[in-house]
Amino acid sequence: MDAIHTTCAYCGVGCGILATPTGGRAVEIKGDPDHPANAGRLCSKGTHLGETVGLEGRLLHPMIGNRRANWDKALDLVAKRFRETIARHGPDSVAFYVSGQLLTEDYYVANKLMKGFIGSANIDTNSRLCMSSAVAGHQRAFGEDVVPASYDDLDEADLIVLVGSNTAWCHPIVYQRIMAARAARGTKLVVIDPRRTETCEEADLHLPLRPGSDVALMNGLLAHCRREGLVDEAYLADHVDVPAGFWNALHTDHDLWSVARTCDVPPAELQRFYELFAATPRTVTLFSQGINQSIRGTDQVNAIINVHLATGRIGKPGAAPFSITGQPNAMGGREVGGLASTLAAHRGFGEQDVADVGRFWAAERMATRPGLKAVDLFRAMGEGRIKAVWVMATNPAVSLPDAGRVREALAACPFVVVSDVIADTDTGRFAHVRLPAAGWGEKDGTVTNSDRTVSRQRAVLPLPGEARPDWWIIKEVARRMGWRTAFGYDRPAEIWREHARLTAYRNDGARLLDLRDRAAIGNEAYDAMAPFQWGGAPFADGRFSTPDGKARLIDLTQRQAEDPLADWPMTLNTGRYRDQWHTMTRTGLSPRLARHREEPLVEIHPDDAAALGIADGKLARVATPQGESLFRVAHSTGQRRGELFTPIHWTDRQSTGGRTGLLPRPLVDPHSGQPGFKMTPVRIEAV
Ligand code: SF4
Repeated sequence: MDAIHTTCAYCGVGCGILATPTGGRAVEIKGDPDHPANAGRLCSKGTHLGETVGLEGRLLHPMIGNRRANWDKALDLVAKRFRETIARHGPDSVAFYVSGQLLTEDYYVANKLMKGFIGSANIDTNSRLCMSSAVAGHQRAFGEDVVPASYDDLDEADLIVLVGSNTAWCHPIVYQRIMAARAARGTKLVVIDPRRTETCEEADLHLPLRPGSDVALMNGLLAHCRREGLVDEAYLADHVDVPAGFWNALHTDHDLWSVARTCDVPPAELQRFYELFAATPRTVTLFSQGINQSIRGTDQVNAIINVHLATGRIGKPGAAPFSITGQPNAMGGREVGGLASTLAAHRGFGEQDVADVGRFWAAERMATRPGLKAVDLFRAMGEGRIKAVWVMATNPAVSLPDAGRVREALAACPFVVVSDVIADTDTGRFAHVRLPAAGWGEKDGTVTNSDRTVSRQRAVLPLPGEARPDWWIIKEVARRMGWRTAFGYDRPAEIWREHARLTAYRNDGARLLDLRDRAAIGNEAYDAMAPFQWGGAPFADGRFSTPDGKARLIDLTQRQAEDPLADWPMTLNTGRYRDQWHTMTRTGLSPRLARHREEPLVEIHPDDAAALGIADGKLARVATPQGESLFRVAHSTGQRRGELFTPIHWTDRQSTGGRTGLLPRPLVDPHSGQPGFKMTPVRIEAV
């Protein structure tokens, strides 16, 4: 059989894959040499995808409680309980919590059902935990959520700055592309990260800044550029709105010495970075979870964008701020309004937006204001305000901060539906109804990667058992709730066409309307659709998506570092391992991936460990006000003193210890609602 062109199940790099079924459930995996994201390369996770498509642990039939049910019975029950809850308590008493693992078509149908027919915006996604601060930052600066960069910019940059990103592990193919650019044209690399990670090994400079001091660092860079006469005044005058008093405020406390003290980095190293940036017009600044997963995430995003706008390093080849997303379809979810704070097609909740989208959908009851964001949604559930929830393709009982509280909320919720590929997940244990969803290799639709490239994800294997695609499950519930015509889809291509039409419906200012060219695509052309990028080269013409066409500089102040708490004197940072993904429901199936890190480690600087009597390789208790868990200790000089690092992946299902999800506090950024996973007061003690 010929190889099928599809895309990887994991990160937002969005690599193309050639998948060849070789009999039974076996699939041979190769990188797709024609895909623009990876040109044939794959990292370890993508390479071993074929080891994860077996049926071990799969949910293969609808389940009501612990009893197998047929689809009609399960769907009827879900529709009835949602209908009854809405009738009794109103539309805001129900919620969907969805995922960047969904395909764009799945996301579209879920969003339409909640926002256009149920009449609430209580649909949020686990992408809230990943990149919603980037969304809020883009909207503040550009007037639309547009990533103004392409992977091609990495090939054309002379300097790449990685901020808050262990790219070598978390976006390996992007890292390989950076390494290729270094080899080909000597591109300089600066890494800004509190930890000395594998990504720093090839860097020209690593700045191990104090966690949460990124605004000071970027404000200092901007002040340096201004002092050196390197602000692009002509670009600012024509294309950027600068708030009154912006420069006066910036020059206060942003001399080199003050910034070095705030960021706790050597002044000479800071000076080196500032001079390198100032001297290099072709600079791309990539940022990821170290920036986004902070209670100041949106300000940190805008601090980076400010520097690029003020120096004209945007809209030109090799010059851009570049948010790299964690999940395979975080971007597709953003396009169709999978976040509680957006509507659809990059529109907000303005009166005109609500009216336009409502008219397009022939909506029965439109949501008119933003809904509950992830952390607030589960808090509302714990308080009894959410009485029915449908969780799709995600595991919030592990992945949300203060996961113990999330479990209590799920246990108290009168009706919990979980659609998943896995039978026994930490969240599924709270479900009244479990619905078997199609997994990677069985689904058919589209995804959008970090640089706005839309690719088809195609089915390679038949649907196992009674598993069904998410879009089918959602539309069947919608039809049973009474909306048969609006949810009459028979195939993903119909949903794609509707989504593409909506992007251009009375939406003339938006870059996303590029998709309208695909609105008339036939079924066969959709099946054969090659990867394409929407938005072209954003802002190359200097026009932004604001009413006056100008971008905005945002006045930002570095908030003071929190004093250490007596009982929780250290700071916990969290992140990924190279060969695992989220809560390991898929990567945990691959023995070869498991070899990289067999158990979760807490990394601690040897000096801290010595002071606390914590031996390398022994067990230690890591505790925060939210919870505690045991980890094996790894001494690491890559850690700053006073800081710990633990991985996010392990759950109840794999381990009694290593439960990072129990530890972070449920505090969020005020603009984006993204939780601040990276800085939790913590203590550690030997056991
Ligand atoms: Fe998959 Fe990301 Fe690895 Fe590419 S870099 S193969 S998308 S996990």
